Amino acid sequence: MLDWIGALRRVEALEDVDFDEALIENMARRWAALPRTSNSRINFYTPTFKSYQSSEIASCGKNAWPALSITGSDCKLQCDHCKAKILEPMIPVRTPENLWRTVNQLIEDGAQGMLLTGGSNHRNEVEYGPFYSTIRRIKDEFPQFKIALHTALVDDDMARAMEQSGIDAAMMDVIGAQETITQVYHLKRKVEDFELTLESLVNTSMKVVPHIVIGLHYGHLRGEWTALEMLQRHVPDAVVLVVVMPQYAPAKRPFVTPDPHEVGRFFMDAREALPNTPLLLGCARPSGMVKLQIDSYAVMAGISGLAHPADGVVELAARLERSVKITPACCSIAVGEEVMALDDADDTLELDLEAILAHERQNRRPVFAKHSALAGIKVVGDNA
Ligand code: SF4
Repeated sequence: MLDWIGALRRVEALEDVDFDEALIENMARRWAALPRTSNSRINFYTPTFKSYQSSEIASCGKNAWPALSITGSDCKLQCDHCKAKILEPMIPVRTPENLWRTVNQLIEDGAQGMLLTGGSNHRNEVEYGPFYSTIRRIKDEFPQFKIALHTALVDDDMARAMEQSGIDAAMMDVIGAQETITQVYHLKRKVEDFELTLESLVNTSMKVVPHIVIGLHYGHLRGEWTALEMLQRHVPDAVVLVVVMPQYAPAKRPFVTPDPHEVGRFFMDAREALPNTPLLLGCARPSGMVKLQIDSYAVMAGISGLAHPADGVVELAARLERSVKITPACCSIAVGEEVMALDDADDTLELDLEAILAHERQNRRPVFAKHSALAGIKVVGDNA
């Protein structure tokens, strides 16, 4: 069996990073026992590989995949990790007429799709009712324009209304701990309501891509494993994993940074629980040393897609003999691009990855120039 710790230690960008070696050995054993499927390869999403920089998240993909909010920046829930701040940079479309006009303009400017969302009412529902006929009109007029909808909580009727309006992909956060729903979301709903929502959505023809926000309980992992069990009972098209970034948390309810080793353990459990489901790591995750740890564990656990990889992580995937693909797009959680990219293999670049990595490392960190990087390691630019 390949020596994972040895492979990891050969990646210079990761040489000062603290890893749990027992966990890595455990992951190597469990990975070896998993069936090889199309999920065994890993797709890195970067705007362009050559000009890519980890700190450039804000500049990516906005024109092609804008995010629109039907409530502007208003949200009744004011969850502790968000305080509705996620809505602030979005394009406000508070009326159906405004939505229609805005989408027409966006398409003229080159948009391929959008994320449509909005703030919640006190029941964690986004009130899309008045917008469905306009969404239908958009899909009838521009069938190629993809729409990912953040559904929040729904029942069967609401899910069917979304389906009938032509929504391509439905997204929701799956929460598995009652105390997180009550305390972080300030919400009087049950864990079962999240499972019923999932069930209603997977019973439609929409692509269903739920999110698990890891560390949602003030930075601690609580309901994540229960959320996984819910997903095993109602298997979606893909799952997006996000690590909480609590920069908006109020001082009196602070979040800790999630333990990266525990996050790594959860990645592996998720991979085993859903072996045939694409698992995508969204770009929202803490930065710095923790990102290096989290991204490395994600690669080791067999995450299928990863947005904005940290330095050294593409090389790590290659050294672990993964089939590596590069999609030259920003895979922002906010615009749902990962979801659409699942269907869009034509956008995947077949690159001479060895040469590009060597070039990147020489340019970015001259200390690497003395090494010939990936010589001898099989790297696949997979277009399949
Ligand atoms: S419901 Fe959504 S937008 Fe509103 S505060 Fe909570 S996470 Fe943010």
